[in-house]
This record gives sequence, C-alpha cells and structure tokens, in this order.
Amino acid sequence: MPQESTSENISSDYDMELILINSSNRVSLASMNDCTGCGLCAKRCPAGCISMRRGIGGFEWPSIDESKCMGCGECVRSCPALSPGSCSRPSVAFAACSNDDRILGQSTSGGATTSIARAFFERGGVVYGAASDGAEVEHIRVDSDAGLSRIRGSKYSQSTIKYIYDRVAKDLSNEVPSCFIGTPCQVDAVRRFASGMRADSCLWTVDLICGGVGAPGDVSDCLRAILPDSEGP
Ligand SMILES: Cc1cc2nc3c(=O)[nH]c(=O)nc-3n(C[C@H](O)[C@H](O)[C@H](O)COP(=O)(O)OP(=O)(O)OC[C@H]3O[C@@H](n4cnc5c(N)ncnc54)[C@H](O)[C@@H]3O)c2cc1C
Ligand code: SF4
Ligand code: SF4
Repeated sequence: MPQESTSENISSDYDMELILINSSNRVSLASMNDCTGCGLCAKRCPAGCISMRRGIGGFEWPSIDESKCMGCGECVRSCPALSPGSCSRPSVAFAACSNDDRILGQSTSGGATTSIARAFFERGGVVYGAASDGAEVEHIRVDSDAGLSRIRGSKYSQSTIKYIYDRVAKDLSNEVPSCFIGTPCQVDAVRRFASGMRADSCLWTVDLICGGVGAPGDVSDCLRAILPDSEGP
C-alpha cells in the first residue's frame, strides 16, 4: 500500500500533497482523458511498480501495483499531463517539400522526415520515428536509409514510446546526434526524460502538426473488418 502522504515523505518544491494521493489514499496520476500514454511515469518509478496497459479504446494507460508503491510521488512529478510546460509561438516559419517524387509519394506531407533523417545519418546520427506492424504502432530507432521506409507516412493510431527511452539515454550517453520525431506530447515527454543527459548538444526533436491520435482499439477493429487475419491491440 502507498505510504500515507505527509509533507515529510514528499520532497518537492510544489504542493504535491494536493495531487499525489487522492481521497482513496491512492497515487493519483493523470485521468484517462488527460493521459497521453507517454509512459514516463512508469520509466521514472523507482519501485518499478507501474506498467503500461491498454485502457479504453486501446490507449496506453498506467497501472500501479500498489503493494509495491512507496508513495514517493516521482510518477506524479514527472507526468507531463499534470504539469504542462510553457509553449511559445515560433518566430519564423519555413515550408519545405522534397524534390524527389518517389519520396514525396511515400510520405504523408512534404517528405520532411526523410530529409531530416538523412541529415542525421550523414553526421553519424540516428532518428526515432513511428513504425507500424498491422495495427500496432511503436517508435523505433533508425540509423540508415534502409530503415527509413518503416517510419515514413502518418499512422493515425497511438504510437508506443515506452521502449524508446532506454535507447535515447544510451545514444545521448554515447554523444550520438539523435532526432526524435513524433506528436507534441511525445516530444514533451522525451525532452523531459532527456533533460540533463547531453540533451542540449545531442538531442533534436521535431513535433508533428497533430490533430490527435486515433484509438488503437478502433484502428484494430477496422483493420480486422477489412483484413480478418490481421492482429492488433
Ligand atoms: C497522429 C497524427 C495526426 C496528424 N494530424 C494532423 C493535422 O491535424 N493537421 C495536419 O496538417 N497534419 C497532421 N498530421 C500530419 C503531420 O503533421 C505531418 O505533416 C506528417 O506526419 C509529416 O509528413 P512528412 O511528409 O514530413 O513525413 P512522413 O514521411 O509522412 O513521416 C511521418 C512522420 O510522422 C511520424 N509519425 C507517423 N505516425 C505517427 C504516430 N502515430 N505518432 C507519432 N509520430 C508518428 C513518423 O515518425 C515520421 O517521422 C498528423 C500526423 C499524425 C501522425
Ligand atoms: S513513482 Fe513512487 S509514488 Fe509513483 S507508483 Fe512508483 S513508487 Fe509509487
Ligand atoms: S506520465 Fe505519461 S503515461 Fe504517465 S500518467 Fe502522465 S501522461 Fe499518462
């Protein structure tokens, strides 16, 4: 069971007691409506007692094993949905479009992903992007042109990033120029995770213009209706 919340056992600059423990004396993470499924709480939990499971619609959702929870509040403090960062409007905007018709045909918009990725590969760097396997979408690490086709194209279903944190940490510790491309909420989570890990010099991030990701369960149902043999979440 979680420890009782007191000002002594929660070391924080902010008034965490208000959000750490709810009226049922349980750790209170972001609501299903607000949670982006980034998995940062699970990654940060020192007791390893948070696992990401499929919630409503198949969206990723944290589940806490309360028998192991120490009530430290790290999950709450690290959650981007509970403490949103500040945003600023870009001061300059550029538009770009690939001059390679083949790449353009394989991309959803102007093919910027391919051009950005190639710039990283030329410098010995890597790119993280969303790849799909049936209805399952997951961020993968790509270090050469050969893997680029997997991350080209928009997948309108939530992409899991929980497995990518360790790879980002390893690349940054090896000073590998790294570029994470994803939805703004994923970028926020990755930047928070990488804060202090040479992120200033080695990590670049690209936010997509995103109107929201689709529910993996719905995408899976649609795929099954069209292709009865397909697997999904
Ligand atoms: C979920 C989603 C919602 C979008 N909503 C809008 C919108 O409202 N308005 C609009 O103008 N454009 C929208 N887009 C398109 C998007 O803004 C970019 O224009 C497009 O993904 C980039 O295309 P590209 O030609 O540069 O590269 P592409 O080769 O098409 O590259 C696709 C890039 O998107 C990433 N990606 C693909 N699927 C996902 C996913 N599920 N989660 C995270 N990253 C993913 C890949 O990592 C890759 O970097 C959306 C895209 C997605 C994935
Ligand atoms: S981070 Fe701390 S409070 Fe949150 S689930 Fe893990 S042990 Fe419990
Ligand atoms: S850290 Fe991410 S996965 Fe965990 S509750 Fe917050 S938004 Fe959801």
